[in-house]
Amino acid sequence: MSATTRRTFLTLAGSSAVAFSTRTEFAGGDQLPGQSTSGISASPDREFLNVMAVAAHPGDVFFAMGAPVAVATHFGGQGAFLSLSLGERGSPSIPAEQYGLSQREAAAKAAAMIGGKALFLQYPDGEIPVNDQIKLAVCDLIRQYRPSTIVTHWKGSWHKDHRACHDIVEDAIFYAGLPSFVRKERAHAVTNLVFADNWEDATGFVPDTYLDITPAFDLWLNACSAFPMWRGETGFRYNDYYSSLAVARGCLGNFHRAVALMSPQEQRVRRIRTS
Ligand SMILES: [Zn+2]
Repeated sequence: MSATTRRTFLTLAGSSAVAFSTRTEFAGGDQLPGQSTSGISASPDREFLNVMAVAAHPGDVFFAMGAPVAVATHFGGQGAFLSLSLGERGSPSIPAEQYGLSQREAAAKAAAMIGGKALFLQYPDGEIPVNDQIKLAVCDLIRQYRPSTIVTHWKGSWHKDHRACHDIVEDAIFYAGLPSFVRKERAHAVTNLVFADNWEDATGFVPDTYLDITPAFDLWLNACSAFPMWRGETGFRYNDYYSSLAVARGCLGNFHRAVALMSPQEQRVRRIRTS
């Protein structure tokens, strides 16, 4: 993304906050030792009322990125879950075509429970390309659904599809925001890009934002349970990991339940007015 366009987005985004609460702070949580709570926004933040999650695979988009979308829909906002593939090669025992269908069905069911839209591009799992075709496909969906916040993969991942998705989304946001870039839908500037706390994308992941997900926690967990893999059937205990992570991140963010998010470096720039 060019510096000029990025600055335009940042002007719209305003200053970076430390923590976002969708209600009051966790009632039982005292201030953390030595930590100010002055950075906590105590009312619904508009940036988190229209959220699009974009991931390489359906599991990622719901397990690692779904809670912020559930927060948006819980408060009457809008949410969308975009998977670039069906994750059809993710089962050690079920044939890819059959598993892809079950992943699609689970994603549709989970999205309906949350009140969001399930979207798919159906590139081959493990072979998600990084090219203008897929970037423009994501650009068009951004322009169509017009999210304020996009949650996607952090680039520090061992998984090639996750790294590809990160790059695709950054360029898709660039394309979506350029009015002179004529597509079917008019331009849309995404004001807030954040990266998700994903067990597979942990290299260099340093969160700078804690989002209170307490009101939507049960809704999000129930939706994730639409996926058989949530219960550990593909070898990783997603349920235990992500439900526990919400507790741990809640402790650090001073909320009952929270997700930790990471902002692009340029989005963390603070602008302090003195006159
Ligand atoms: Zn994945």
